[in-house]
Amino acid sequence: MSHHEAIPEGTDKFRDTISLIDNSGERNWVYAKKPKGKLHTARSFFGYSLIFFLFLGPFIKINGHPFILLDILSRKFILFGFPFWPQDLPLLGLILITGVVAVILFTVMFGRLWCGWSCPQTVFMELFFRKIEFMIEGDFNEQKKLDASPWTTEKIFKKTLKHIIFYTLSVFIANIFLAYIIGADELLKLITDGPIVHWGQLLSLIIFSTVFYFVFAKFREIICIVVCPYGRLQGLMLDNNSLVVAYDFVRGEPRGAIRKNETTQHGDCIDCKRCVQVCPTGIDIRNGTQLECVNCTACIDECNDVMTKIKRPNGLVRFASQEQIVNGTQHAVSFRSVAYVAILFVLIGASVYFVSTRKDISTAILRTPGMLYQEQDSLHVSNMYNFDVINKTFTEQQIDIKIVEPIAAELKMVDRKLSHIQLGEDSLAKGSFFIILPRDKIISNNSEIKFQIWSNGVLIDELKTNFIGPVKLNSTK
Ligand code: SF4
Ligand code: SF4
Repeated sequence: MSHHEAIPEGTDKFRDTISLIDNSGERNWVYAKKPKGKLHTARSFFGYSLIFFLFLGPFIKINGHPFILLDILSRKFILFGFPFWPQDLPLLGLILITGVVAVILFTVMFGRLWCGWSCPQTVFMELFFRKIEFMIEGDFNEQKKLDASPWTTEKIFKKTLKHIIFYTLSVFIANIFLAYIIGADELLKLITDGPIVHWGQLLSLIIFSTVFYFVFAKFREIICIVVCPYGRLQGLMLDNNSLVVAYDFVRGEPRGAIRKNETTQHGDCIDCKRCVQVCPTGIDIRNGTQLECVNCTACIDECNDVMTKIKRPNGLVRFASQEQIVNGTQHAVSFRSVAYVAILFVLIGASVYFVSTRKDISTAILRTPGMLYQEQDSLHVSNMYNFDVINKTFTEQQIDIKIVEPIAAELKMVDRKLSHIQLGEDSLAKGSFFIILPRDKIISNNSEIKFQIWSNGVLIDELKTNFIGPVKLNSTK
């Protein structure tokens, strides 16, 4: 985005540097001022509610089953109470693409609001870790002083206390994410069994907790600026109509402190730099939209407070598009947004359709690879088949595979006493069976077999496969 109009000549050095690193190449530690204001209150309320649901997520059950389970290890997924199997991958892919388009659309329209208001990284950082830091070490100036001071007993005490709390909180967060992967019941079992029994899981928990600890205690905004792919794609997604946290340079410039008896006409920005002090990524929003800005809106609150004090209208820094600021127009919806909305509707429609028409019980029958036919006796020939039946419901199912055509065919299970397949909830059964045909009924060397799949006495599916037979032998008879 072009902001040349906003930046006084020779002061655009910020373009050559990144807020994270100082001139000597060292990390520029951001001492952010304690945020406060209406938006911060709203953001806190919103963020704490999200975390509450994040914590609650693994413990919510529908009919005794998790609402969400992302068991990557055993490749079992439950979304909104519906079990998904690796066989549903195309459907999960469609849901994922729908989600990505929704995020892109949201970004095109509302900028990085997700980053500042909903992303777990920011929410945990700003509403937990940074608040604890403010409580123990004080506001930004006191933190700066403490860091620069020699190691007194007080400093050792404060730092140790802070890092112990940070690590404990990280362990807690790691446990919540673990609960999403292995399920809340399994997690509670791990905890009650004690760490020694499950040392493997304990090790992964320690690794995850340590990673979280470093993310929140040390890396902080580096994650948003350098690591997060969503953050790095901002340049592609934002356009001049995207709503972003923006400084109204038309109103604000030329900036300058208010001095008594001064005749020069200044803009509304009094260059107090409070918007810079409060920024958790250490940037100056007056330089325009930057990669580092996570749209946390803290600078809006801060500047509004300044504007109220100097009796100027609020909103010198506000949520607005570049177009609105330059032309003073109302927010317009870009063609890009309309196109994304259309695509999103199609994708949501397709996802809903495929999820609602998804078979609760999926069956696959394939002739056992690498096998021809077997001669059972002088009058009968058989083919061997492998089957996979997946029960994607939370009720037990009794599956019967019946042959519809040819009528003379007989099905014989291998290694199974029962002719039907008993399937527990959300489970898979594999096996093999023979189809035996009388020789005189084989009219082709590759004939079609039609099956019906019955579940608990209800017809649920019809399948076809082929039967390879010794046609020559048959025809010579
Ligand atoms: S510039 Fe403003 S909105 Fe952006 S990260 Fe900094 S304080 Fe938050
Ligand atoms: S807080 Fe507002 S007035 Fe102060 S420097 Fe930032 S934009 Fe200017």
